[in-house]
Amino acid sequence: MELRVTEIFHSLQGEARTVGRPTVFVRLTGCPQRCVWCDTEYAFQGGEKRSLDDILDQVAGHGAHYVTVTGGEPLAQPNCLPLLSALCDQGHEVSLETGGAMDIAPVDERVSVVMDLKAPGSGEQHNNRLDNIPHLRPHHQVKFVLADRRDYDWARFMLDQHQLAARVSDVLFSPVHGQLSGADLADWIVADRLPVRFQLQLHKLLWNDARGR
Ligand code: SF4
Repeated sequence: MELRVTEIFHSLQGEARTVGRPTVFVRLTGCPQRCVWCDTEYAFQGGEKRSLDDILDQVAGHGAHYVTVTGGEPLAQPNCLPLLSALCDQGHEVSLETGGAMDIAPVDERVSVVMDLKAPGSGEQHNNRLDNIPHLRPHHQVKFVLADRRDYDWARFMLDQHQLAARVSDVLFSPVHGQLSGADLADWIVADRLPVRFQLQLHKLLWNDARGR
């Protein structure tokens, strides 16, 4: 059993519920989407074919409790599903970052899914798989990356329409780095008293988005 892998590295979790925790990242190669503000275009192609055992060995070698499987779009590779289960079997606390276009139903129940809903400013709104919403669980998270006020208003509508805050542990609102002011987004959330978690990407603040950190 093989997967195409762009990189495996140990760093701090940059976002979501476990932000700041030492975490091993497994970045799988490939993504069917093309968000205009994507910051991991280097994961669209290339990578290296690795066996499942080889990946598990490298993850174990880092000695971290938290593991995040990311991409690209990890679920674009069917073998992502057994990888997630194997990581859980090894005792890791596992999260999956997914762009929201692929089916999350078959993901191992032990995994914390962090699912994007793509706002209009991403150019990928039409690919949101709304059929995933009934499959969200209380330990999952939903993430909106917002480029402007129009995106914010859309996210607020989706939050209400699908009662997202009641479905998952955290609804995350992030500004597109360098495009929407974090202070503006924070002010809007506070003014509207939204039941969401504002976040900035820690790895960009600390390391200016250097690869492998
Ligand atoms: S889904 Fe993620 S990896 Fe794919 S284009 Fe969008 S931001 Fe980039």
